Amino acid sequence: MSTTAATSAEISHPSQLPAVDKVLLAAEMQPLREAYGLDACTKAARTVLTHLRQQLLGSADQPGQPVQADLTSIVQSAQRLLQARFAPRLQPVLNLTGTVLHTNLGRALLPQAAIDAVVQAMSSPANLEYDLQDGSRGDRDDLVESLICELTGAEAATVVNNNAAAVLLVLSTMAMGKEVIVSRGELVEIGGAFRIPDVMTRAGAKLIEVGTTNRTHEKDYAGAISEHTGALMKVHCSNYAITGFTKAVSDADVAGIAHDHQLPMIVDLGSGTLIDMRDWGLPYEVTVRETVESGADIVTFSGDKLLGGPQAGIIVGKKELIAQIK
Ligand SMILES: *Cc1c(COP(=O)(O)O)cnc(C)c1O
Repeated sequence: MSTTAATSAEISHPSQLPAVDKVLLAAEMQPLREAYGLDACTKAARTVLTHLRQQLLGSADQPGQPVQADLTSIVQSAQRLLQARFAPRLQPVLNLTGTVLHTNLGRALLPQAAIDAVVQAMSSPANLEYDLQDGSRGDRDDLVESLICELTGAEAATVVNNNAAAVLLVLSTMAMGKEVIVSRGELVEIGGAFRIPDVMTRAGAKLIEVGTTNRTHEKDYAGAISEHTGALMKVHCSNYAITGFTKAVSDADVAGIAHDHQLPMIVDLGSGTLIDMRDWGLPYEVTVRETVESGADIVTFSGDKLLGGPQAGIIVGKKELIAQIK
């Protein structure tokens, strides 16, 4: 920007301030107008002038004061406002929390090959919902379903907006107007917005809590089953742990009880992992594949927690149920 020698003037009355138009026509303003557009520049100039006027006039508890200002300094102030307003909102940070994957600070990082694929997909039209073989409308799930099934061992899969939506959709499809049995120790709240009891209500299902906070037995599940039962459900205690005198029933055993009564078993895995974390020296986490193998009919997990993809919820499980959910 040109640096016209500024004769910084002392201004003691608002009438001495330049008009907005004059600020917008200043030589130094022209590159800003080109970069940010006239509307944003007008707004910024007005904000600077209003602020100076307030300083000059003062307020009830602060008397007015003269200000040092001229066209150049006013444009510079406007430039600072514009730079702040147009700065990227999402900023890199250093994660020193001690939590390796802190969801307030982004998601798991993607490998370069995945980043390249994202950039490619966003840079040109693609066959997102078009079947190139048939030359007709396609289904976006076709692009990923077989891959998700290969990774998880599930019969079928679909992808929705997030895992919260996945749970809502699964419950409303499989248990609307019916009862869903969940252990008291698994009635979690995640990040303040997602609470199992509330999601259950929203889905039109009735929550039947069984067991106690620290201990739930097979007989608790079995004893709660009635003609009104729609499903048995297990929820991953993502952000807390119950330790000490505890007992939980395994996925396989809950699935066994459900199937003995011709009922489906649902698991909300939360983050979900596709790989054995112990291979990376991290604590064991049940994988999606193991959960499917344990007999769960439907498993939901997040596409953007440990899997650092775009916000998504992934639903895998029995073909027939996935078809209904879709
Ligand atoms: C995180 C989480 C959710 C919500 O997943 P989003 O993808 O963030 O919507 C639901 N259930 C459990 C157990 C979770 O940990």
